Amino acid sequence: MATSLKVAVIGAGVSGLIAARELQRESHQVVVFEKSHRLGGTWVYDPRFESDLLGLDPNREIIHGSLYKSLRTNLPRQLMSFIDFKLNDKTYGDERLFPGHEEVLKFLEDFAGYFELTELIRFNTVVTRVELVDSEIIEFEVESKTNGVNTVEVFDAVVTCNGHNSEPRTAFDIPGIEKWSKKQMHSHNYRVPEPFRDQIVVVIGNGPSALDLSREIATVAKEVHMSSRSPHVKVSKSEKFSNIWQHAKIDCINDDGTITFEDGLSIDAHIIFHCTGYKCHVPFLKTNGIVSVQDKRIGPLYKHVFPPQLAPRLSFVGLPERSLTFLIVECQSKWIAKTLSMKISLPSKDQMLRDIKEHHGDIEDDGFPKAYTHFFEIENDYIDWVSAQLGMNVEKKFAEMFKYIIYCAISGNYDDIMNLFKVKFGI
Ligand code: FAD
Repeated sequence: MATSLKVAVIGAGVSGLIAARELQRESHQVVVFEKSHRLGGTWVYDPRFESDLLGLDPNREIIHGSLYKSLRTNLPRQLMSFIDFKLNDKTYGDERLFPGHEEVLKFLEDFAGYFELTELIRFNTVVTRVELVDSEIIEFEVESKTNGVNTVEVFDAVVTCNGHNSEPRTAFDIPGIEKWSKKQMHSHNYRVPEPFRDQIVVVIGNGPSALDLSREIATVAKEVHMSSRSPHVKVSKSEKFSNIWQHAKIDCINDDGTITFEDGLSIDAHIIFHCTGYKCHVPFLKTNGIVSVQDKRIGPLYKHVFPPQLAPRLSFVGLPERSLTFLIVECQSKWIAKTLSMKISLPSKDQMLRDIKEHHGDIEDDGFPKAYTHFFEIENDYIDWVSAQLGMNVEKKFAEMFKYIIYCAISGNYDDIMNLFKVKFGI
């Protein structure tokens, strides 16, 4: 017989919304905690930025959003959709295949309205503590704060959907960087290009933020020097932008403040711009060491979702990075909801732990650092695996589309992705 549980969902971004819908479908009693006054998480553009541009001060006021003003999606509408509620079937004023961020937010608001999820959300309510009260039956105390008032409640299960794009990760291991006295900032705090006008900028990173923001700041900056640790980047001058250069990794920062790249060039820059991604951050979770959060790894987690010792009562949605987020979080949410209602069973704790050990071992054997634990460009079969648990067949074309986007990005066609995609898929 199906079981109905009292479940806390933390966060009302893409992950929290889809988790709430799937839990509701399984007749669980759902409360969604959202610290902001509106739903959408990342997709709510916030023009404010943090006072500490690198996000190092633990006492700073944290701004959740990392979107910049001009951002368009880096995936087409088809890949920013849920299985039965698709962005490519709708338009909210921006019909482009790769729309601006406002379109995605309107889509999420429409989704929440359509499935009556808004009623489940407690806005302006930050979760400050999630603690295991009884490890035998597994229950959690959830402490939250609304307008200064603290509340403590007990839940049968907690689904963590708090997002992982708010806590900057910086490149502070560069020799000599501690001597750099000029400006540094992280892409988390980037909104518009104006502060880079006439500046010589070193951009560290090789992901979508580094690639997009280099191009945007090049419209006003004097010079943009991109630096990447990846052995695959080609040291070169951009053919399309007269003021962008791609370098190898930074060798060191010298006593006179110049920056030397491994390709031998040294430059005198005004700004170091860290486009180096984010750390996982779950400050409210107290599990006596059962779950640990280190840099970009939360573990141990079976298939990036369940800590074996607390499964299925504690779960995480949305950890996969560089992935088909919408589809993956939908599959993860269905899996969690059905596992909580005991329609799907998990392997034994030992089997789950063995699987995790193997996964971590594979990452090491392939020469990737721990930070790649939830990095999905290297993990192809995940959607197939999770959807198989659900007895579902996810159309292969989504994975094909995603792989093509990645292929274009790594094969030097980043500036033409949108057109190449349209041609390839006849859209
Ligand atoms: P979030 O959207 O971060 O939502 C988390 C929510 O939890 C927030 O509303 C937050 O306020 C709330 N919260 C956090 N802590 C607490 C707490 N303690 N108590 C209560 N509430 C809390 N993905 C794509 O598919 N396509 C793209 O083009 C794309 N572009 C991106 C561009 C940028 C610059 C960034 C940073 C990410 C991009 N992504 C993109 C990935 C994006 O993160 C996902 O699409 C998705 O928004 C992740 O949703 P989430 O719900 O997991 O997290």
